[in-house]
Amino acid sequence: MSNKYVYLFSEGNASMKNLLGGKGANLAEMTGLGLPVPQGFTVSTEACTRYYDDGRMIADEIVSQVFGCLEQLEIISDKKFGDPDNPLLVSVRSGARASMPGMMDTILNLGLNDVAVVGLSKLTGNERFAYDSYRRFIQMFSDVVMGIPKAKFEDILDEVKEENGAKSDTDLTAENLKEVVKKYMKLYVAEKGEDFPQEPKTQLLESIQAVFRSWDNPRAIVYRRMNDIPGDWGTAVNVQAMVFGNMGDDSGTGVAFTRNPATGEKKLYGEFLMNAQGEDVVAGIRTPRPISELAESMPDIYNQFASIATKLEDHYRDMQDMEFTIEKSKLFMLQTRNGKRTAAAALKIAVDLVSEGKLTKQEALLKVDPKALDALLHPTFDPKAIKNANAVAKGLAASPGAACGKIYFTACEAVEAANAGEEVILVRLETSPEDIEGMYAANGILTSRGGMTSHAAVVARGMGTCCVAGCGEIQISESGKTMTTADGKVYKEGDYISLDGSTGNVYGEQVATLPAELTGDFGTIMGWADEFRKLKVRTNADTPKDAEQAIHFGAEGIGLCRTEHMFFEEDRIAAMREMIVSKNQSQRVRALAKLLPIQKKDFKGIYEAMGEMPVTIRLLDPPLHEFLPHGEEDIKKLAKEMIIPVEELMMTISSLHEFNPMLGHRGCRLAVTYPEIAEMQTRAIIEAATEVSAEKGISIRPEIMIPLVGEVKELKYVKDVVVKTAEQVISETGVKVDYLVGTMIEVPRAALTADEIAQEAEFFSFGTNDLTQMTFGFSRDDAGKFLDDYYCKKIYENDPFARVDQIGVGKLMKMSVELGRKVRPGIKLGICGEHGGEASSVKFCHDIGLDYVSCSPFRVPIARLAAAHAAILGEQA
Ligand code: PEP
Ligand code: MG
Repeated sequence: MSNKYVYLFSEGNASMKNLLGGKGANLAEMTGLGLPVPQGFTVSTEACTRYYDDGRMIADEIVSQVFGCLEQLEIISDKKFGDPDNPLLVSVRSGARASMPGMMDTILNLGLNDVAVVGLSKLTGNERFAYDSYRRFIQMFSDVVMGIPKAKFEDILDEVKEENGAKSDTDLTAENLKEVVKKYMKLYVAEKGEDFPQEPKTQLLESIQAVFRSWDNPRAIVYRRMNDIPGDWGTAVNVQAMVFGNMGDDSGTGVAFTRNPATGEKKLYGEFLMNAQGEDVVAGIRTPRPISELAESMPDIYNQFASIATKLEDHYRDMQDMEFTIEKSKLFMLQTRNGKRTAAAALKIAVDLVSEGKLTKQEALLKVDPKALDALLHPTFDPKAIKNANAVAKGLAASPGAACGKIYFTACEAVEAANAGEEVILVRLETSPEDIEGMYAANGILTSRGGMTSHAAVVARGMGTCCVAGCGEIQISESGKTMTTADGKVYKEGDYISLDGSTGNVYGEQVATLPAELTGDFGTIMGWADEFRKLKVRTNADTPKDAEQAIHFGAEGIGLCRTEHMFFEEDRIAAMREMIVSKNQSQRVRALAKLLPIQKKDFKGIYEAMGEMPVTIRLLDPPLHEFLPHGEEDIKKLAKEMIIPVEELMMTISSLHEFNPMLGHRGCRLAVTYPEIAEMQTRAIIEAATEVSAEKGISIRPEIMIPLVGEVKELKYVKDVVVKTAEQVISETGVKVDYLVGTMIEVPRAALTADEIAQEAEFFSFGTNDLTQMTFGFSRDDAGKFLDDYYCKKIYENDPFARVDQIGVGKLMKMSVELGRKVRPGIKLGICGEHGGEASSVKFCHDIGLDYVSCSPFRVPIARLAAAHAAILGEQA
């Protein structure tokens, strides 16, 4: 039996999202609910993957199923493709499982040709409308399917407008538009060397293939990588009978959300345009009107729409984002989907839906994307600074937050500047999917065109980036790289501005920002997350300040305190350097004695911040030469301080040189060579613990972590030093300290011999930064330079330093967990690599049974929610 690749809307439903894509599945579901949906069919995602498997060819089998469904559609709609009296016209739209800007846009009015345009004119009694539809179709098809730049068509349109003294498109007559069509056709021949395809079936197949191709365009690949969408999903294609919002003043089109996507407020929210087609609303050419005005101008339609909106929200039990068209006073639903929303709105909607009895807490938690929380943790303007700042313009408050940076006028320059460490604001007339990387790189986005549902607004909201859109009062010259405010002040590339995405204000200066405050719905969601998660969440913190920040965000301990970070500060680097260049043990011990009180003070500060929560302190890890001075001046200064000849110091420095320091004398290897370093650090850790325990009347429980272990005997050697020192301090002070000694699993050999390692280690903490580096065999500091080539060539979909590579590195982790627990059933297991704050990696850690994840303070809430997701999904499985 052959596979089914094409489904009529009446054959599908919402559960078939993987096969029909989100848009197709929801069109089918709305059809099943009896809502007014123009009928059509969906070419499945499997057809797309087959297209690629077949070497970018659409199989005959799929073609014949498309034409089979087309025939059915002709029967349902009582119209015929290419008919001179009653032509069927369709829209063609991409629709992946997850909504994906960056892929092909819509093609409208497909099916028009030199004959059908006459049919459309007769059918509607409106020749102007027919030729306007035809010229739009030629332009869209040529641009989107055939790759002829849109601008060339715009130029022709402008030319004809000028010749005929027309101010706007609507001033053009039917005759003018016929002229436009003729010129478009000529341009097409000049560009492609053949006539514009007149056969509607050819138009359709070409368009379907263009959608399939767009799945793999560079913008889509970037978007997928940013949003964790697998490359093998493919996209579906929806072919739907056209309805026309541009048939006169009793027609229109719009988009609306069942709740406010910026704030979550429960109120129908959206905009519409009368006598317009879909692209007019999003393109920002005309300013759309708020949906509430539809209640005044067409109350029956408004009421019908509002009741459908409620029905859809109740049905999907989530905020819906809907597209509709009114054709000659008749309402049609073109799309519904769970609406994209700001992080703040996501929290409010989730909490409200639970209190409205529509969702359980677990369901509500799953509706909030952990990554989205990031946006809430970002800064707002300092109220004092903003008081003195003058707004120079106001646009739409499209995506909340505060941003400050230097302005750049192209996505490319924004990316370059951000890579060079600049804070960037991307300023554009309007954005398009090509700008996606620039939008990601920017702190904020400012556009002069477009409404709340424009590309800039929708995409920025999804990314949690501050955005002021549709700021029509500023003049932007993208080519001249300037923006001019209403009072004539000109801002050039590199000038500072600040944006308030919550009010729409634009400030022509730097305005100080403050960290985010978390309350209300955030607290509720975090509280629920804590009810369900099994993983504990700790933080990576090296200072009491970081530790306090992390506790504020809900951290339950420190999973990694990198002690080397404490040595870089001005007051201690000299003692550290002295220790490193010591010629013998007694010199080194003397230098270490200077470091002891400093370390102890640091640890006390951290214990005081953390109270009785567990604190994992790692012994010195990086290669020693990292601490040495490099410039001539610095070397001379150090030699003077240490009262040794410059030459001697230079020799010591060069003797410390390593060809491959990341694989060199670092980690526990330092303690093997210089056990006195481990002794000093242990003494500082335990003495600090005894003092804080005694002072506060609590029990400090340090976990001493030995890094870069690959062999149980080296672990045992260093552990013996640690235990001997710790016991000595405890007996000296008479204060009992419950401490643990464990190791990082970050060298592949440690993972492979985790059963042996567990005989000595009381805990494992996966150092997935080094484990990834050493498993892949590429440098964590240099991989960024070539990983892009791997994404482009589809060798990797993601950065393995950002998301745990579950297949390779993950296998080592899983193996270590099993081997470790076999030998030491109660062994404590955690992760402290950067992956500990990334949602998919957190889920993986839950699945393999770790006890905790540890991540940077600002990612603690993300990890808490991701851990709850993992637990809830685990229960459901
Ligand atoms: C690691 O390697 O994952 C780790 C946490 O240690 P560092 O990043 O300090 O090497
Ligand atoms: Mg490491």
